[in-house]
Amino acid sequence: MAAQHEVVIIGGGNAGISLAARLQRYGVKDVAVIEPKDHHLYQPLFSHIAGGRAQAQEAIRSQESVTPQGVTWIHDAAAGIDAAANTVTLASGSTVAYGQLVVCPGLQYDWDAVPGLAEAVHSPSGASHYEFELASKAWTLLRSMTSGTAVFTMPAGPIKCGGAAQKPMYLACDYWREQGLLDRIRVVMVQPYPTVFGVPEVDRELDRKIAEYGIELRTNSELVGVDAAGQTATIRDLAAGTVEDLHYDVLNAVPPQSAPDWLKATDLPAAGDTGGFVEVDRQTLRHLRYPNVWSLGDAAGTTNSKSGGALRKQTKVVAKNLVAARKGKRLPAKYNGYSVCPFTVSRDTVVFAEFDDRYRPMPTLPRVPTWNESKFSWVVDRDLFPKIYWNLILKGRA
Ligand SMILES: Cc1cc2nc3c(=O)[nH]c(=O)nc-3n(C[C@H](O)[C@H](O)[C@H](O)COP(=O)(O)OP(=O)(O)OC[C@H]3O[C@@H](n4cnc5c(N)ncnc54)[C@H](O)[C@@H]3O)c2cc1C
Repeated sequence: MAAQHEVVIIGGGNAGISLAARLQRYGVKDVAVIEPKDHHLYQPLFSHIAGGRAQAQEAIRSQESVTPQGVTWIHDAAAGIDAAANTVTLASGSTVAYGQLVVCPGLQYDWDAVPGLAEAVHSPSGASHYEFELASKAWTLLRSMTSGTAVFTMPAGPIKCGGAAQKPMYLACDYWREQGLLDRIRVVMVQPYPTVFGVPEVDRELDRKIAEYGIELRTNSELVGVDAAGQTATIRDLAAGTVEDLHYDVLNAVPPQSAPDWLKATDLPAAGDTGGFVEVDRQTLRHLRYPNVWSLGDAAGTTNSKSGGALRKQTKVVAKNLVAARKGKRLPAKYNGYSVCPFTVSRDTVVFAEFDDRYRPMPTLPRVPTWNESKFSWVVDRDLFPKIYWNLILKGRA
């Protein structure tokens, strides 16, 4: 017979564990989390690792240690969902039945969408700080540069923490400046949008840092191919329609991203959504066609910039609404589109961008312009947030 749980959560990452803990606090007794990995990662630190400002071991803990006591950990991967039958099929072949389902398996990296990219990031001169295993390598490569060209790239489409593509670049520039090397290193940032980020207040501050470091910013541009052996990145200028081959000494690339393929193959995404994200109401986070299905975090079909800061708000909304729905009550909570991106613009300062799903500033403390470069924001991002993450967020308390 299939296992059965009141609430089944697919994915024991940032969203899944914080939600499981919060649901327990709200009195839900039978929560199960499906999670295939043995370890849990705090991804925001990957940028600091790649910029030489954190150690890899600070970003990883065992999955067992973060799974709340009393929550059932199903050590397996979801492979399919039959939302009409209220069941999830697992990679091992067994089935789990649910009363309520929460889908939060994060994003997959579509390395093959850029020919040569997978090979390049594993080659001696390439890395990607979006992979835990390659973040330390990025710093080894950047730290070893004394001259030449460093290319950083960000893909188009929804990705985890959009601005994170730039973070190790600023950290490396500050390091090279400290070492007296910055003048000898050409730094190119390739990104697909018309401005450096999209929130005018934040753009102004980032543009100032870009000018200060002498970074060549290629807006409206995308990485479309890499020749790893020849250390050549092919960049397309989306506005001009031209293509350029750029020789690099170090490449740090962020892969294109989408919902996991197995999720795309279910009927939970909206028809025609090639990204495959779960079709939820963007305020209540309830599925538009299956009322006992919910989604939050990176895999949710919401319009916000995907980040841990965004899903921290979403967790409370889903927990409150799911509990109310089980009692047949009106849904009490709405997500407001909030997201965040702390840009590490030097080795001890941060530009803290807080904004809504239309890229308008949304500071937590009204009238405090957190987008100004600040040492205080560095301390919050580098020292405080990891502690809050492990001790409060994952325990459903923040
Ligand atoms: C380099 C980098 C820097 C970032 N910086 C910041 C930042 O400064 N601030 C910020 O707020 N956010 C930042 N983020 C984004 C933040 O980490 C993510 O938005 C957040 O982790 C998303 O949480 P999630 O639970 O949706 O996905 P994840 O945390 O990725 O968790 C998804 C989980 O689902 C599991 N899973 C996958 N497939 C299956 C399956 N088939 N069945 C069951 N489980 C499955 C995975 O193993 C994983 O544990 C950054 C991300 C990166 C990569």
